[in-house]
Amino acid sequence: MVEVTAPLRMPYSPKLSVHHRPSKKERIRVRIMIHSTEEFAVQFWGVRGSIATPGLSTVRYGGNTSCVEVRAGGKRLIFDGGTGLRVLGQHLLKDKTPMEGHIFFSHSHWDHIQGFPFFRPAYVPANSFNVYGGVAPNGATMRQRLSDQMLHPNFPVPMQIMQADLQFHDVHPGEILDLGNGVTVEIASLNHPNTALGYRVNWKGHSAVYATDTEHYPDRLDENLLHLCRNADVLVYDACYTDEEYHDEEYSKRGWGHSTWQEALRLAEAAHVKVPVMFHHDPDHHDEFLDKMERQVQALCPSACLAREGMIIAIDHHKQGAEFLAESSSESPIVKMPVSA
Ligand SMILES: [Zn+2]
Ligand SMILES: [Zn+2]
Repeated sequence: MVEVTAPLRMPYSPKLSVHHRPSKKERIRVRIMIHSTEEFAVQFWGVRGSIATPGLSTVRYGGNTSCVEVRAGGKRLIFDGGTGLRVLGQHLLKDKTPMEGHIFFSHSHWDHIQGFPFFRPAYVPANSFNVYGGVAPNGATMRQRLSDQMLHPNFPVPMQIMQADLQFHDVHPGEILDLGNGVTVEIASLNHPNTALGYRVNWKGHSAVYATDTEHYPDRLDENLLHLCRNADVLVYDACYTDEEYHDEEYSKRGWGHSTWQEALRLAEAAHVKVPVMFHHDPDHHDEFLDKMERQVQALCPSACLAREGMIIAIDHHKQGAEFLAESSSESPIVKMPVSA
């Protein structure tokens, strides 16, 4: 693992090139790993942006909104509480023992918080969760905003009815949090209406970055993101649109606060990311559209993939270098992905 001590300053290249072609040594492995202190895994519970999109046209990629779990060094980190958080909560309740977790919110747009009132482990007295989020431009903390969405007449019960031990933390760009067991979390600001935060999890020289919702700049790469993503094993990035949609003359998406898969690859290449993952799928992008998008993405970057509900990317640090294991829950198709030694 190459150590980077300073922010990367790469020249901006609008041209996309093929990078990270897998060598003969690279291979695909599928295996089930249990949650342990030696595990580093990223699991996707909700991959859709803007609004939940259940239906026949989204069954393969999934319709739940943003929620990604990272298990590292025996710690459970949850990024965003979109409708996917409800599904994760159901899964966690199969384990009867008291549980601890760390829930990080990128921001409080609906597609990132609507699963929180339905996160059943938060109603169980023996459980405890640390909840992290930024302070909105109007001064509202994440605690305030999570509480507000549960007030009458929008929701039948207030947040105070949650019986788990909930500790709320206001966090800021530039902070580095130490969660113990060698797990640290770096925080950066993203380019999104009313602001959003990106997070990087570090553990034993490995790293995964969660960076949604964010819009790229027209003339340069985002230096905050370049630094956050430096040499990351996994980058989960807002690839809501294609470049064509983003620049469409009639329905341009400029200024909407989201990015494109082409920008994901530009950023990943400049920051030397091993596995770029396209995330926050547009609600209008059905399975066939996303299949086509993934073919285009992998033609340029074979190690990249599109996020799907149930997909797990696990890094086995006992192997020589990082090895990526594409896994799947029983309900989801197995995602096979080129891996790099
Ligand atoms: Zn969003
Ligand atoms: Zn948003």
